[in-house]
Amino acid sequence: MTTAAQSTRTIPMLIGGQRTLGSGSETIPVTNPATGELIGRIPDATTADVDAAVRAAADAFPAWARLDPLERARHVTALADLIERNAEELARLDVQDNGSPIREMRGDSGVAAAQLRYFAGLVLQLRGHTIPTQFERLNYTLRQPFGVVGRIVPFNHPFMFAAAKLAAPLVAGNTVVLKPSEHTSLSALRLADLLQEALPAGVVNIVTGYGQTAGDALVRHPEVRRLAFIGAAATGRRIIARANESVVKTVTLELGGKNPLVVFPDADLDKAVDGAVRGMNFTWQGQSCGSTSRAIVHHDVYEEFTSRLAERVAALRPGPPGDEATDTGAIVNKSQFEKVQRYVQIGREEGARLLTGGDVVDSGDLARGMFIRPAVFADVAPGSRLAQEEIFGPVLATMPFTGYDEALRIANGIPYGLTGAVFTRDLRLAHTVARDLEAGYVWVNDVARHWPGTGFGGVKDSGLGREEDLDELESYTQAKNVHVNLG
Ligand code: NAD
Repeated sequence: MTTAAQSTRTIPMLIGGQRTLGSGSETIPVTNPATGELIGRIPDATTADVDAAVRAAADAFPAWARLDPLERARHVTALADLIERNAEELARLDVQDNGSPIREMRGDSGVAAAQLRYFAGLVLQLRGHTIPTQFERLNYTLRQPFGVVGRIVPFNHPFMFAAAKLAAPLVAGNTVVLKPSEHTSLSALRLADLLQEALPAGVVNIVTGYGQTAGDALVRHPEVRRLAFIGAAATGRRIIARANESVVKTVTLELGGKNPLVVFPDADLDKAVDGAVRGMNFTWQGQSCGSTSRAIVHHDVYEEFTSRLAERVAALRPGPPGDEATDTGAIVNKSQFEKVQRYVQIGREEGARLLTGGDVVDSGDLARGMFIRPAVFADVAPGSRLAQEEIFGPVLATMPFTGYDEALRIANGIPYGLTGAVFTRDLRLAHTVARDLEAGYVWVNDVARHWPGTGFGGVKDSGLGREEDLDELESYTQAKNVHVNLG
């Protein structure tokens, strides 16, 4: 954990197995969003630093790719062991750095370790095919790694993304350059210590810095032929264009969402209300791509649903993120904090009814932090900005519908398509909605959770590709076809 004495220390990056502050003199201050306190500094990596990291990864690649697959898997499992041993410290680092409550952040290292173990266990499933061509011919495919993979991750689950997203590329035999968010790099830099123990030098390199500079240098680097990005849709669109400016790259994108939760009148209303609360991920301030931030509710149950929902949300307790009793913590940074407030104002101006929350909590322990009480709006017009744009904060928009077609028109009438949820007791209806929703992941009478082995990803502006399953592992390989004349 960062102590007061370390608080203004610059924490070094990891390049080629060495800790380094990089070639530039600039650093980025790290502040605790719950207190405004300076808790450290991270290097502002230059293009030369990113280049050094890519070269280190390229140098480490041949030996890593030639290791026996089970040996690579053993290294990845060793990393999972180290993460589990340091779980509490890692969770507390994220709490300080990103403002989410300890109860929530504690789960993240477990999720990361589970993903690492899952992909390590899949290593022998990276199989090719034999293809019957002619009796005297053998035709088969090999799955081979790309080389250096660039992974760029966002701020909302800093450690989980930094660690879990190494698993598939590494197991497939690639080496990695990882860039965490400039807002939340501390736990990734602590991960660097564990990587130094678990993996050969250069197999994973971590560079910190801004998206426009360090991120862009990684995106454009000609030796990075495979890039995976998690972040905002606008950034994803820019990245895919930039990535392919000089060489052809394979790019996958996990982007934002404005996800629908559709409640039919026959639903178990207790479960549906509970789903709407949990689905918003208020326990990390709604800062989740998968949040079901539009509740589309049949008008026969709309009033009852929204009043029960507002009561439940009003009872969530904002508090210091380190406290076990805290339900909802601080917004990660000033620009997100202002963005959420701006959308609360937009909602009012658009004529939606604010049922609860939306106000800044600025008293007592929370006075110096960026806390907003979770908000629920009613009667949100489906075409309004509040209903259409991703806020990535604790703001839930509810809107009524009358018939199936209208529900689906509203649910699908947005540029995004990441997740969706439906609440009904009618089996046929549930599966029909699941079929018709434009989304990459649909929950029936449930929300929020995903599991290793179940592919996660979006359609439309929510992204390209699937993660957390065998498809992700295979996406870090390229197929080669081999034709042999036996005659
Ligand atoms: P962001 O797009 O601002 O930044 C994400 C990462 O990209 C950061 O590391 C940032 O430094 C880097 N970056 C920014 N501009 C870049 C550029 N021009 N070139 C290269 N790198 C650049 O997103 P954010 O604010 O950190 O995260 C929130 C967004 O992430 C939301 O839209 C959310 O929905 C999305 N998200 C999606 C998923 C998913 O699995 N689909 C998961 C979590 C978050």
